[in-house]
Amino acid sequence: MCGVLITGGAGFIGRHLAASVDGCAVVDRAPAEFEGAVDFRRADVIETGWEHDVDAETTIVHLAGASGSRDATPAQCERDNFDATVRVAELAAATGARLILASSSSVYGGPAPNHEDDRCAPLNAYGRSKLAAEQRALEVTGGAALALRFFTVYGPGQRQNMLFSRAIEAALTEQPLVVHDGAAMRDFTYVDETVRAIGLAIDNPDACGVINIGAGETHSVAEALAIVEAVTDRYIDVIHRESSVREPFETHADVERADEVLGFRNETSLGTGIERQVAAVSSESRRPSASPAS
Ligand code: NAD
Repeated sequence: MCGVLITGGAGFIGRHLAASVDGCAVVDRAPAEFEGAVDFRRADVIETGWEHDVDAETTIVHLAGASGSRDATPAQCERDNFDATVRVAELAAATGARLILASSSSVYGGPAPNHEDDRCAPLNAYGRSKLAAEQRALEVTGGAALALRFFTVYGPGQRQNMLFSRAIEAALTEQPLVVHDGAAMRDFTYVDETVRAIGLAIDNPDACGVINIGAGETHSVAEALAIVEAVTDRYIDVIHRESSVREPFETHADVERADEVLGFRNETSLGTGIERQVAAVSSESRRPSASPAS
């Protein structure tokens, strides 16, 4: 028997989640090390062999996937978001395990604020694969799956190619920062909040369907960069460059359903979240190297 099994648990959100769930199992195709009693299984979820002890008592939190609209080709989105999710949903249906899966604000594409019942018209391959994956997962599980639509997640451990990581790096190293659209508005969500929402979903076995997980407020990219400048006390030299990937101008989670169904409401302001991410980067760069030069 396996209690909570996190796919993609070696990734940004997955690592934070694994640290918060006692005795969980993690499956990821990337290598990883964890503190505490984490049962790590290195595997691609599309393959077999990692799921031997999944049963009706298991909650699968399926985070494995292509992680963003600029990070993956359409073929990678198809495989890692759609095919992998179908595989995990079929496993859940066959074993009676509960399935909570990571979806995305990218499924909306249209005007904000974004309500779960809005018509979805994703603007890029990533958003289309996430929408198709959540719809198929709901079909395969007879509506029992729960798709959490995450809105731009940031915080310590964020991937190096994501905006806040790049902005903090640019500020601290005084290198220019490439930005696609400083006016674009995003519902930035601090990672501990996303993880708290997943925890509430794990503890609420009746929750199913689709729920937005966001801060419920929106800030421009330029506003966020100004906060990074204030927190680091450095100027960021911004270079504007057109993106080849179409993205919505604004994302903004309608958070009523998350509150009603899960009792989740964001408690971390953008300023506080950025301060914590800057502090984590600064303490990481102060840490002595593991292999000192001889
Ligand atoms: P991440 O890229 O940091 O982590 C994803 C992990 O999944 C990686 O460790 C990767 O090795 C693993 N993975 C991918 N395909 C796999 C496969 N077929 N088999 C096994 N492992 C596989 O991404 P993240 O930011 O932690 O995001 C987690 C999930 O949340 C993703 O599904 C992503 O699409 C979704 N999401 C993230 C954000 C965000 O802002 N970070 C926003 C919306 C949705």
